[in-house]
Amino acid sequence: MSLTRDAVVEHLQQIVGPDRVITDPRTLQLNSVDNFRKLQNIFDVHTLPSPLAIVQVRSTAEAASVLKFADEHGVNVVSKTGGTATEGGLEIRDENSIVLDGGTMNAIINIDAYNMQATVQCGVPLQVLEDKVRELGLTTGHSPQSKPIASMGGLVATRSIGQFSTLYGGIEDMVVGCEVVFPGGIVSRIKNVPRRAAGPDIRHIVIGNEGALCFISEVTVKLFPYMPENHVFMGWTLKNMTTGFAALREVMVAGYKPSVARLYDFEDGQLHFSHFAKPDECILLFMAEGNAGITKATAEGIAELVAKYPECQPVDPAYIEEWFNDLVWGPDKVQREDERIRTTRNVNRTTEISADWSSVNDIYEAVIARIRAQINGITLLGGHSSHSYINGTNMYFNYFFDLIDCEPEEETEKYYLPIISIIVEETLRFGGSIVHHHGIGKARAPWVREEYGTSFFMLEHLKQAFDPNGVMNMGTIIPR
Ligand SMILES: Cc1cc2nc3c(=O)[nH]c(=O)nc-3n(C[C@H](O)[C@H](O)[C@H](O)COP(=O)(O)OP(=O)(O)OC[C@H]3O[C@@H](n4cnc5c(N)ncnc54)[C@H](O)[C@@H]3O)c2cc1C
Repeated sequence: MSLTRDAVVEHLQQIVGPDRVITDPRTLQLNSVDNFRKLQNIFDVHTLPSPLAIVQVRSTAEAASVLKFADEHGVNVVSKTGGTATEGGLEIRDENSIVLDGGTMNAIINIDAYNMQATVQCGVPLQVLEDKVRELGLTTGHSPQSKPIASMGGLVATRSIGQFSTLYGGIEDMVVGCEVVFPGGIVSRIKNVPRRAAGPDIRHIVIGNEGALCFISEVTVKLFPYMPENHVFMGWTLKNMTTGFAALREVMVAGYKPSVARLYDFEDGQLHFSHFAKPDECILLFMAEGNAGITKATAEGIAELVAKYPECQPVDPAYIEEWFNDLVWGPDKVQREDERIRTTRNVNRTTEISADWSSVNDIYEAVIARIRAQINGITLLGGHSSHSYINGTNMYFNYFFDLIDCEPEEETEKYYLPIISIIVEETLRFGGSIVHHHGIGKARAPWVREEYGTSFFMLEHLKQAFDPNGVMNMGTIIPR
């Protein structure tokens, strides 16, 4: 960095105004970590450097000026919108970093119900947009559990996915166009068209960039008709994950498009379904939605396919609807979970991967066996598949552990990373992807070369081309 920290703050104040440059030490400290090291905030034991300032931008022009200044003076920029990151994408590794806060760019610019698309600034929380379009009988079709807090810029930057992905897809299937700012303050807009074959699809340079290539200032996403009156919920108990994967696969291969398609193993299932499922029972569940005729055909077709597996015993659909209505995580649930961790020192973590149908069960079994054998203090270990495709599915490992001989600030190194290592190693061994939807962040960056193989060349060159001075979220996606 070519300037003193005070000089950086002064320059930033000139760009956005003094009241938009936060330098209060406590706020800066709370912004040194995200959920990857959430225990540092929960127990107030901070070990990482604080950013030197948080800059709240109100417009693309302000974001461009900040990025131009940062690029010229070698100031590392960590972009942020909702702050729900789970993989260390917001973690500060260098004290000469600023947080570029797009949470203050929160205008809904246009809802175009004729062309079925909505344009928003990056800081609009998904729930706000969803509530607004619901008033018009529409939906974004995007429903990650963090949607009350996660915002459009971050959702695009992390390549997020929601509960209804089997019907609507991930965010990559929803983004029509966007506006982004590159280091040096270069503003690029990708226009909104239904499809084009004009060379590579450059939306994919933006989607999933995790703030390591550019700052996303505006996003246009598709809209769909919302018809809750047609929702159908279906569920079964069963004894084996292998049967569940086989049934899930058959539904996907047959071409059905339920909005929700999930398979819980018995231990993870007990967290939600203990009032009707026995402790050794897995749960297979679906939801169909959309047009009445399609919904009916989808539900009937799935029921017919699952009936081929006598091990699957139907459950009251009301149980599945009840589960569904309590899925999202707003600030209240987050606070309750933080308090539970503080008082019990029992920590809940998750890691998601993807694999083809041939290997997903092998990965699942290998991971569970190794974590049980190698990690002390595990109090719950299970997982579920929640996003399925014609050629495979994801596995979302869900695990709880007690902090044994471990201070809260050591949790990531002593527990979380060793467990992630097991999951990543087994996934790579069977040819899967080490990240299904949370992003690589800094947490899984150590394995990015193995994840990409020979295509790492392309990723590395993208980084060099768009961020030649290395000021964009240093250490995220590509390790330092
Ligand atoms: C309780 C909980 C439930 C979750 N459920 C889901 C789920 O169902 N599906 C899912 O996919 N994820 C889920 N997540 C993960 C998280 O919510 C997503 O990754 C989300 O997309 C992050 O959005 P955000 O606005 O909070 O981004 P932030 O946390 O602010 O940032 C996330 C990353 O994106 C970058 N970034 C943020 N804004 C911008 C921008 N404007 N331009 C460029 N880069 C930017 C940041 O630098 C960081 O690397 C969950 C997280 C929690 C805590």
